[in-house]
Amino acid sequence: MRRAIDQLQWDNAYARLGAVFYQPIRPTPLPAPYLVAFNPDAAALLDLDETAATDPRLLAAINGEIELPGTHPLATIYAGHQFGVWVPQLGDGRAILLGEAINRRHERWDVQIKGAGPTAFSRMGDGRAVLRSTIREYLGSEAMHGLGIPSTRALAIVGSNAPVYRERTETAAVLVRLAPTHVRFGTFELFASRGERTHVARLADHVIELYFPELLTLPAAERYRAWYRSVVTRTARLVAQWTASGFTHGVLNTDNMSILGITLDYGPFGWLDAYDRAFVPNHSDPDGRYAFNQQPMVGLWNCARLAEALIPLITREAALEVLEEYRRTYESEVDTLLHAKLGLVTREPVDGALISSLFDLLQATATDYTRFFRTLSRYAPGETSRREALYREVSDTAALDTWLARYAPRILRDDADPADRERQMLGTNPAFVLRTWLAEDAIRQAQAGNFERIEEIRRVLRAPFDEHADFAHFAAAPPEWARELALSCSS
Ligand code: AMP
Ligand code: MG
Repeated sequence: MRRAIDQLQWDNAYARLGAVFYQPIRPTPLPAPYLVAFNPDAAALLDLDETAATDPRLLAAINGEIELPGTHPLATIYAGHQFGVWVPQLGDGRAILLGEAINRRHERWDVQIKGAGPTAFSRMGDGRAVLRSTIREYLGSEAMHGLGIPSTRALAIVGSNAPVYRERTETAAVLVRLAPTHVRFGTFELFASRGERTHVARLADHVIELYFPELLTLPAAERYRAWYRSVVTRTARLVAQWTASGFTHGVLNTDNMSILGITLDYGPFGWLDAYDRAFVPNHSDPDGRYAFNQQPMVGLWNCARLAEALIPLITREAALEVLEEYRRTYESEVDTLLHAKLGLVTREPVDGALISSLFDLLQATATDYTRFFRTLSRYAPGETSRREALYREVSDTAALDTWLARYAPRILRDDADPADRERQMLGTNPAFVLRTWLAEDAIRQAQAGNFERIEEIRRVLRAPFDEHADFAHFAAAPPEWARELALSCSS
């Protein structure tokens, strides 16, 4: 049975941590709000009735005109390392946690509204988000989930014609975001940097109790170490999944690192079009600190900052031991994922060289990453039409032939049923990712008042391994008009 928006069950555990962890704050309503997007998949997570989309109370609640019974709106405080530089205090400068909804399966979902107005942590900011950035986060996070990669979720977007000033004047919007929790590495860093060890321990206990309950039976010292190890493992695996799917987060500051190892804070992110290991989606990152191929290292660096915040809850020795494992976890996960992308079921010593020579080829030929692997999924040695399909994706067909001459005997040695391999690869290599041009198309249409494209894209990306014949054009490489799209931190 579904519930109306004002019938959700709330249990605000974060609010109970006490006032040092947040500022109680109400959203500042936007004038004349309207619903831009509503995601029934995310509504189901809250047991929210689908008719909520047309319920005026939903709009009013997201826009802060009414306070839902049982909620406890607040802005969390945190700190973080931004582009390697320590920032002693950050916090939700434009996001407000309404509360934690508990669904019938006893799952806990933070319901957060992003772009909800100023808080004590807004610094110089206006507390707002623009329609453009909310559409990118809405579609990006649902696309990530569709790929099977842990992520925050997106419930809805509410827009308003109120002007918001960025590089140019845009309009305001509020994104409703869901996550089991939004606690970040930076939340721990804040209290640690102030020497408030009891707060660090209290927050760790809160996180373990609610999100790592399997560790509760361990003795305290061991429990914290096992928890830290779990966070590091999840982080390494998450980054490996990003690597395999061609995703670059763009702003991997420690305040954007989820303590649950889920993808958090979609800003100037990007999925690869042409393969480029040094891809930097964020034009505000000229040094490429957060380039595609830097993410594994940055993930480790961020885990080390978390360790520093957790000492002495965990010992320095324990932290170093866990950090030692990060690289192995990352590499073994990537190895597994890439074997699956290539349709290899067994392991051979030649695989490393086979895989790296493929990536050299993709790099040298600027081949579209997603399209290549999707097309490779249908490759079969000796079948001309399948080979020709690959020729259409790779500009240097001679180099492709050289690589296929190694790949073909390798998959034949696997002795798998070709139909099984094809099915497995089509379930691993998506036809669709949220290409920057695709998001931009939805944004431009929305800015012109047409929100249908957002829903079309969401529906395709929730099942990116299916063909969606009517939307095959969503799988295209960037069209001419989109070649020079620039993304910045400004959102
Ligand atoms: P982000 O780049 O979105 O992860 O934000 C980094 C920090 O800046 C966070 O603490 C945000 O709350 C804050 N922030 C970003 N944009 C704004 C804004 N428009 N108004 C207030 N705070 C903001
Ligand atoms: Mg952030």
